[in-house]
Amino acid sequence: MPNLERNKPLAPFTTYKIGGPADLFVEVYTIDELIHAISEAHCNGIPFFLLGCGANILVTDKGFRGLVIRNLANKITFFNGDSVLAESGAVVADLIEKCCDRGLSGFEHFVGIPSTVGGAMWQNLHFLSPDRQQTVFVEEIVQTSRILTEEGQFCTVGAEYFQFDYDKSILQKRKDIVLDVTFQLSPKQKEEIRAVVDANMAWRNARQPQLAEYPSCGSVFKKIKDIGAGRLIEQVGLKGLRIGGAEVSGKHANFIVNTGNATAADVLQLIQYVQEEVKLKLGYTLETEITVVGEL
Ligand SMILES: Cc1cc2nc3c(=O)[nH]c(=O)nc-3n(C[C@H](O)[C@H](O)[C@H](O)COP(=O)(O)OP(=O)(O)OC[C@H]3O[C@@H](n4cnc5c(N)ncnc54)[C@H](O)[C@@H]3O)c2cc1C
Repeated sequence: MPNLERNKPLAPFTTYKIGGPADLFVEVYTIDELIHAISEAHCNGIPFFLLGCGANILVTDKGFRGLVIRNLANKITFFNGDSVLAESGAVVADLIEKCCDRGLSGFEHFVGIPSTVGGAMWQNLHFLSPDRQQTVFVEEIVQTSRILTEEGQFCTVGAEYFQFDYDKSILQKRKDIVLDVTFQLSPKQKEEIRAVVDANMAWRNARQPQLAEYPSCGSVFKKIKDIGAGRLIEQVGLKGLRIGGAEVSGKHANFIVNTGNATAADVLQLIQYVQEEVKLKLGYTLETEITVVGEL
């Protein structure tokens, strides 16, 4: 691989801005390059991690022993009037813009969420519906996907293959790789789509700490049905609690933010403390939604 780098700090490639180096690091710009990088890792017996926007992970301070493949294969092709084929490194924000311009509805619900298409499939990207009464999931617009299975087979599969659920997909159980996804959109007035985009951004800005000021990986704990993890954390009085540079956000208690110099160890300690307090005082078990990547 010509652009292979060694001992590459990973923090800049995550929304948390935290994490030590990868022994090996490569950026891929096409699906062929992605497949090649994975096959090189397999052939050489090197563990690999596929990185999207790095928005749902916490990289440890020691970093990753193996190859990190940063997926920048981001081609987006519209066809048949209301369908789009997106490579797995395509960024959801770009899809939203392109779909808005064409009057195609489906992605606008996910505005303000840092994500590649691959990351969106991994955890079934979701947000509240415009009336805030239900959750809209990316699975609702997934038609087919081309994957490289953990057994090394290339297949085209339908949405049902992914066994989507809240924060869940089969990708968390099997090491399949999403190469690209075809999404089915619906024609809609551009103004209506823009209105959802604007309303969702306003909703986020009012309730969540902004990434530019407070690096984070979004919600840390999984939703507890009908209760909400953030509300429990707030109830036990942990908003604003700090360990090192990590802080339970004063704006949204399910966000643990990096106030500037947080280490992964700070975040992990704070996560554990929050879990213990909520269990002790309210009896609920908080499970983490984020993936810890690297050597502990
Ligand atoms: C401020 C903020 C707000 C957020 N709000 C929301 C929200 O409202 N709703 C929501 O659902 N999420 C939210 N998130 C979480 C995050 O944005 C999503 O989980 C997103 O889908 C992660 O995508 P990514 O590209 O960053 O994936 P990464 O974090 O880079 O990777 C996540 C996992 O996906 C795997 N993966 C990536 N690409 C592929 C692929 N091609 N094939 C197989 N596996 C792959 C990775 O290996 C890794 O295990 C938020 C995060 C932040 C920082």
